[in-house]
Amino acid sequence: MEKKILLVEDEEKIARFTELELIHEGYQVTKALNGRDGLELAEKGGFDLILLDVMLPQLNGLEVLRRLRRTSQVPVIMLTARDAVMDKVSGLDAGADDYITKPFAIEELLARIRVVFKKQNGLQQQTRRMTACGVTVDTDRHEVTCRGEIIELTNREYELIRTLMENKNIVMSREKLLDAVCGYDYMGETNLIDVYVRYLRSKIDEPFGIKLIHTVRGAGYVIKDET
Ligand code: CA
Repeated sequence: MEKKILLVEDEEKIARFTELELIHEGYQVTKALNGRDGLELAEKGGFDLILLDVMLPQLNGLEVLRRLRRTSQVPVIMLTARDAVMDKVSGLDAGADDYITKPFAIEELLARIRVVFKKQNGLQQQTRRMTACGVTVDTDRHEVTCRGEIIELTNREYELIRTLMENKNIVMSREKLLDAVCGYDYMGETNLIDVYVRYLRSKIDEPFGIKLIHTVRGAGYVIKDET
């Protein structure tokens, strides 16, 4: 699918030229010529990346970024004036993913855009497939496998192992796990988690001879990276 880029740039020549190059690269481009329009469009969402000039009429780029970051983690590359060191620092502080100084070579901009998208892809893949001790939780398929073999789990068992995998190497209390598995309004006993852990161990640890879920006395449970 075509990636959607929002370009916020008040210098029309630069905006037009950049837009054409991005379209040529196969991106979908929306333009905004001032900070206020840019923020409004960005807040509506639906963009994969925002190219944000710093010096903008109505609302400067740093202010746009600060406000946007209250609600959105969309990748942002700042376009800063040459040698405006403070702009770069402030931009990164305010949550920009990268910056490029103007005037820029279009190839450099395209390269930086590719880096941002690559990073984003990497993050998404990490959260879709999580692995420890030969056990994989695939959240796209809603499936758990051990050494390639599919393990049949109930919904609550699945939610428990998914939560532990997502928090790998972090000890999770029974209360937290109960919230994740049964929902915040569940009024049951926290030892319900012990029961589900026992089920999981009987389905995974015992048949495959591994130690996936560790008990941390007085604290809770953890899945660790090492076996
Ligand atoms: Ca400008």
